Amino acid sequence: MAGRGPGGPMGGRYMTEEEKANQPKITPELLKRVFSYLTPYWKQLLLVIGAIFVSSTMKLLPSVLTGRIIDEGLIARNFGALVFLIFLSLAVTLGGNLIGVLESYLNNWIAQHITYDMRNSMYRHLQTMSQRFFTTSNQGDIITRMTSDIDGVQRVITNTLTDILSNAITLIVAVVVMYRQNWVLATVGILIVPLFVIPTRAAGRTRWSITRESQECSDQINGILNETLSVSGQLLVKLFGREDHEYEKYEKANKKMIDLNIRESMAGRWFMVILSTTSSVGPMLLYLVGGILMMKYDSDLTVGDITVLVGLLGQMYRPVNQLLNIQVDWMRSMAMFTRLFQYYDMPAEIQNAPDAITPDSTDGSVSFSHVKFSYDSERQILKDVSFDLKSGDCIAIVGPSGSGKSTMINLIPRLYDAQGGTITFGGIDVRKLDLAFLRKNVGIVSQETYLFNGTIRDNLLYARFDASEEELIEACRKANIYDFIQAQEKGLDTMVGNRGLKLSGGEKQRISIARVLLKDPALLIFDEATSALDSISEQKIQDAIEPLIAERTSILIAHRLSTILAADEILVVKDGEIAERGKHADLVKAGGVYTELYETQFRKALDGSLEGGKEENDYEVPGYIAPGDEY
Ligand code: ATP
Repeated sequence: MAGRGPGGPMGGRYMTEEEKANQPKITPELLKRVFSYLTPYWKQLLLVIGAIFVSSTMKLLPSVLTGRIIDEGLIARNFGALVFLIFLSLAVTLGGNLIGVLESYLNNWIAQHITYDMRNSMYRHLQTMSQRFFTTSNQGDIITRMTSDIDGVQRVITNTLTDILSNAITLIVAVVVMYRQNWVLATVGILIVPLFVIPTRAAGRTRWSITRESQECSDQINGILNETLSVSGQLLVKLFGREDHEYEKYEKANKKMIDLNIRESMAGRWFMVILSTTSSVGPMLLYLVGGILMMKYDSDLTVGDITVLVGLLGQMYRPVNQLLNIQVDWMRSMAMFTRLFQYYDMPAEIQNAPDAITPDSTDGSVSFSHVKFSYDSERQILKDVSFDLKSGDCIAIVGPSGSGKSTMINLIPRLYDAQGGTITFGGIDVRKLDLAFLRKNVGIVSQETYLFNGTIRDNLLYARFDASEEELIEACRKANIYDFIQAQEKGLDTMVGNRGLKLSGGEKQRISIARVLLKDPALLIFDEATSALDSISEQKIQDAIEPLIAERTSILIAHRLSTILAADEILVVKDGEIAERGKHADLVKAGGVYTELYETQFRKALDGSLEGGKEENDYEVPGYIAPGDEY
């Protein structure tokens, strides 16, 4: 519907209550910062200003020439002058329009380049933001800033700034020419302008408020349709027999909508009536006053002069109206800039130390010493965690859900920084290590596997763009996914679907294991999925990771006994502390947290995997206590 929303043809002319309440403070610093985006393009900007000046002036010239056409051509009956002035007027109009085209081109060029710069720098800046930023911010908000807010900036430059300039220039030139023509008529004309502007603005505001109301009503109708005509919505309506109730709700909103639509179009009609009436009052007044001057006061005013003044007056309404409205555009633009600057000003929480160390290699060992951490300074997630993982060893971290296991491993590649204690990687404090080096050497297979929408190959190559076909196949073999890939018609070029949705959870996990293997990190972290996989998938993952952890330093966040048993040491985390540590057999005997976990979680899982076809005796692990055994 025409005029809808802030972007509509007239919708943008008035501020909403919310916008009024959130008006930004316009400080010299803010303006300086906004204009700093223009400075690299100052040459083009000067050209634009020049073009605006010339085209705005040239657009007024035909009105002035009309006066001369009347006086010097028609009234003086001079055919030569008439033809010359007509051609001159047409040439000026054409010239003005052509310069206008150049102005638009330059203007767009500058605006597009500024938004290009802003988008790039914002994207770079967002990439430096910490995990905390992405987990706490609303994703929609981030996207809005990257897209519509920056688009808004472009509009400011292409519309607001040029509007201000061209309108101001048009007004100044028009006023000067009018006064040169006749000061009495010029003064009358200028006094008339507010008479026109005030009622049209009032009518515009009424129309805007109706438009907003009908927008809300339309949203409400869409909401009803979405809710009640969806599969599950209809099911609910049918099962509870609420058809009539929903119909009545819909009918009421529908009725409100048509009433508003009628009011809206009538308000539009009245707006036009007021507009055309008031805008015809001005010229008539000028003719009247001009006539009085000519007839009663014997002024040397000519018919041409009066025509020029009427023409110029007609050209003043638009700029005056627009300049009055520009305040709204300006405020809105400043609000947009302020929002963008808020993002730019967010410091990158995790940064490379100025004197960061980049060793030649690392042994992948990890040491936590009295590490403390909280996400929001309200609740301490890790209270005092210390452990050592020697190069080549494997640690399994177990503990109840929410005890802080994932948090512990997130601190190693510095997705977050610990608030107390130290974490070393390869014997060096992680904060002193070069971030790129650190992250290159820590490979995490997280619980929630993320695959991009593309082929399996694309997803694997993300780890190392230059990996050869043989390396890809080798990684897939090790991750126990190669058979699956081979069975696909397109092999490695099989599409994985949006976020890998075309694959099962187990397949996704194995692809992400292959991806980490291609990266070949010194430390491998495997955050085992808590979600249930069937025992065959689970076994395939198990078969993939067991040889891997045997050959490299690794940490397993384990939920299944079979994974735990493969580790050299088990850390039992409870409430952000390491409650117990040791080997499976000892921990089971200790009768503490681990025993409880074993009883409630691992044993059940083990029972499940036994149903998957494995014989009990296949688990030949020292210390393994078969279900039902005494310990
Ligand atoms: P699970 O076994 O269920 O994966 P976990 O032991 O790995 O659990 P963590 O993910 O480390 O647990 O979470 C520890 C605590 O920190 C939880 O209480 C969780 O609510 C909280 N937490 C996790 N991530 C954040 C976050 N980004 N911001 C705030 N709190 C968080």
